[in-house]
Amino acid sequence: MDLSKLKDLTLEGRPYKAEILKGVDSIDTDDLSIIFPIHYEVSVYATHDVWTLIVTVNYAVQTNCSRCLKEMVDKVSVTSEFLVTETEEDAKLYSGQTEDEVIIWQKRDSYLDELAMSIVITSLPIQPLCSEDCKGLCPICGNDLNKGDCHCSNQSVDSRFAALQGLFDEE
Ligand SMILES: [Zn+2]
Ligand SMILES: [Zn+2]
Repeated sequence: MDLSKLKDLTLEGRPYKAEILKGVDSIDTDDLSIIFPIHYEVSVYATHDVWTLIVTVNYAVQTNCSRCLKEMVDKVSVTSEFLVTETEEDAKLYSGQTEDEVIIWQKRDSYLDELAMSIVITSLPIQPLCSEDCKGLCPICGNDLNKGDCHCSNQSVDSRFAALQGLFDEE
């Protein structure tokens, strides 16, 4: 995809939308695999002789909750902004002036896919949670605490309470 073609598309007032049907590189690991297709959309804004590229990627991974280990699908939506130049000289010129990543436009059809894929790789969930308040597993017996308390959890509360009482006794 030529950047000029992309600019034409976005000038019509709609972002360029595309999807990646399957992985170029195999980045599946034991505990995480990307679900294809990956959807992304790109908006382009021209400023002088450079462009701002706003890329939003929506994807999902098949993984396990980092607390309770239950299988889950984690949905990720991530937006990255880039400053795009056509020459290396311009890239050097602008890289000191912006907090956005400066990229040099590559005139090949797969470039936007590669860019979207690099956003996916840098945003993969490290500690996915099945829910924000997942209680996890009991460290003693392995019971899923989301399904109910076990006797060990009562004990740990008791011992913490005992430690507190110990503090008060010293006063
Ligand atoms: Zn969980
Ligand atoms: Zn337990």
